[in-house]
Amino acid sequence: MIRLLSTDFDGTLVDHYGNPPVDDELFSVLRDLRSRGVLWAVNTGRDLHFVDDGLREFVFPIEPDFVLTAEREVFHRGADGSWQDFGDWNRRCYDAHDVLFESASVLLDDIRLFLKQAGEGAEPILEGSRMVGLASKSEEQMDRICEFLERERVKVPGFAYMRNTIWVRFCHEAYSKGTALAELARLTGISRDEIFAAGDHYNDLPMLDGVHAKWVMCPENAVQAVKQTVIGAGGYVAKNRCSSGVVEALAHFGAFSRA
Ligand SMILES: [Mg+2]
Repeated sequence: MIRLLSTDFDGTLVDHYGNPPVDDELFSVLRDLRSRGVLWAVNTGRDLHFVDDGLREFVFPIEPDFVLTAEREVFHRGADGSWQDFGDWNRRCYDAHDVLFESASVLLDDIRLFLKQAGEGAEPILEGSRMVGLASKSEEQMDRICEFLERERVKVPGFAYMRNTIWVRFCHEAYSKGTALAELARLTGISRDEIFAAGDHYNDLPMLDGVHAKWVMCPENAVQAVKQTVIGAGGYVAKNRCSSGVVEALAHFGAFSRA
């Protein structure tokens, strides 16, 4: 039985090219599942304040119980309604990244140099003076940049990155959508066999390989690597895009029955 949903947001619940961007049936299914005690986590690459922006922009009528942000942080709703750290995971996550970025200074300089050579549109993303990721102009340009990152990252133990379309965020390999979900499962006492996970892009792979969630799916618009991973984990590749595909998968797994 599914007790917890872990859904990516952009490209999985929201179709930025769709009209409407979110299938109304998703809203009614989420309401129905909520009324039966199923919990819902948005597990996204967005930073915390951009999650609330997204829920407002696409007029979600219900709010998630948890938000897992920046592909690694875990928040639950506090008594005052605001998002708060859930346990000490975020603290440990920030500490691990402080250590990682300190040890990666030479590698980060090499990456900056490579970006200059990669051509127009390849830009570092900064938080203060720290280079936390990068953006490219096209998927093809990002393919080339990721080949470089894949080669070079072994120079710094633990150094990894999460790719979502034309964006990359650097991270410690121990922190991902998958391990954040595992921590949420631990904190809520929900087992892997009771978790549904849905995603469409490379940064979703760590929660779709069957390790942290049994019921995994991707929508029709997912990238090929995600479809292969979902199939390999015995999951479901939907015939429909984004939220329509998520609803299709929830019906397929028997989370609700279509009238
Ligand atoms: Mg996505």
